[in-house]
Amino acid sequence: MRSQSNGSSEYSVEIPTIKFTKLFVNGKFVDSTSGKTFETIDPRNGEVIAKIAEGDKEDVDLAVKAAREAFDHGPWPRLPGSERGRILMKFAELIDENVEELAILDSIDAGKLFSTGKIIDIPQAANTVRYYAGAADKIHGEVLKMSREFHGYTLREPIGVVGHIIPWNFPSTMFVAKVSPALAAGCTMIVKPAEQTPLSALFYAHLAKLAGIPDGVLNVITGFGPTAGGAISSHMDIDMVSFTGSTDVGREIMQAAAKSNLKTVSLELGGKSPLVIFDDADVEMASSLALIGILYNKGEICVSSSRVLVQEGIYDEFTKKLKEKMEAWAVGDPFDPKVQQGPQVDKRQFEKIQSYIEHGKREGATLLTGGKPLGNKGYYIQPTVFADVKDDMLIAQDEIFGPVMALMKFKTIEEAIQRANNTRYGLAAGIITKDLNVANTVSRSIRAGIIWINCYFAFDRDCPYGGYKQSGFGRDFGMDALYKYLQVKSIATPLYNSPWL
Ligand code: NAD
Repeated sequence: MRSQSNGSSEYSVEIPTIKFTKLFVNGKFVDSTSGKTFETIDPRNGEVIAKIAEGDKEDVDLAVKAAREAFDHGPWPRLPGSERGRILMKFAELIDENVEELAILDSIDAGKLFSTGKIIDIPQAANTVRYYAGAADKIHGEVLKMSREFHGYTLREPIGVVGHIIPWNFPSTMFVAKVSPALAAGCTMIVKPAEQTPLSALFYAHLAKLAGIPDGVLNVITGFGPTAGGAISSHMDIDMVSFTGSTDVGREIMQAAAKSNLKTVSLELGGKSPLVIFDDADVEMASSLALIGILYNKGEICVSSSRVLVQEGIYDEFTKKLKEKMEAWAVGDPFDPKVQQGPQVDKRQFEKIQSYIEHGKREGATLLTGGKPLGNKGYYIQPTVFADVKDDMLIAQDEIFGPVMALMKFKTIEEAIQRANNTRYGLAAGIITKDLNVANTVSRSIRAGIIWINCYFAFDRDCPYGGYKQSGFGRDFGMDALYKYLQVKSIATPLYNSPWL
């Protein structure tokens, strides 16, 4: 481990005073109705960063009232798309102007690398807003070719009041992935960020207001899942819940939606994604992709390549290279520019990952490298690889959501496909081969929402992203995400005289 710090400026980054700690309802920062707060913790050292307003049902009710009013009577859904687009462009500009502060907030709240936040997450967040700003004036229906003498057409109308419930692993990416298509569509909304990472969401709310998004359109309720989140998924006046998080909570959200007003549900859930490496792969490149695939964002990424299947001909060479690279990987303070992996998000996640590591040892997998926590404060874990993993082991089936890889050997393409699909999840997969036939066969045979051939994490905002099987349904990013916040209305009228005259 290179270093850890509890200071703010050890790596010449000035941690700003936390400006926003209250709920954002109807355009104002307000205390929670109960007056309760909760602590948000810095995973570098376990210290309290700030006390945040703890919203629950009463606060969600107030936010929904504001969002409902803004949807039913306010200007936002009625504005020309170009005007919504113009305001969203301004929002994107403000995000760009605040890149450093937003990246710092996500680093201290989630343990994310400051360098990555500054170069990737926040600039990409601004670009995602721009993408949907550009789409806002291109929303239209179709002219229908009706079989009788009718003029028929469709309209795409905003779905209404949306509740977005988001996780902690990519606080900025998740926030904009949810709100920007919904805003472009003309929806109004309540966002509940994860309790571990409320800081940047409140900052985005402030920027949205500065950009000119009218009061009541975008509300942020910080708080806990079963209370604030539960109040959203069961609310009678919310038209849709768009959730990203674990499969277990996704199931609860769907039940709450079914038991309340049958609101539309979109679920982006967990994963246990396979990376399948064939004998003809360049081992240097394959080991680097496998390394990044599991260690990027400390393994706290739903599409991480947590199961790596390697064909027998290159297995030994691959394993040797991977071990060397894993052991050279720098874990430490996310503000240190030399560091490649920061702390896990919180104590609970830190302990959960360690308990899976212990489980892997008990199950009989070979601990190739890592397996231990690092340092005497904060939530750091060594990059860890288990070899000789069998498909029925818990570490091959459960989403660990940490820097822990399950490595497996296979013989044939048929075996690779069968084992890659041997999971309840279906979020992503990677394939490394020079053989186009193999790449095409495997990519079409794996049941997952996104497949990367000879690359990994090749995301873009126009690339729809979501799951098969128990990884959920509905898509974020791309035009699919915009359409999910729109509903289709069909209108028909006789071309000439009414046939019923
Ligand atoms: P989580 O499911 O515990 O929490 C996600 C959000 O749901 C949080 O805001 C939480 O407060 C809220 N929540 C918890 N219980 C709730 C309830 N009963 N009702 C309503 N809301 C509730 O997930 P997490 O630990 O924050 O995030 C990690 C999970 O998210 C992993 O499973 C990961 O794979 C998944 N994830 C998926 C994607 C994707 O696009 N598919 C992206 C990122 C993360």
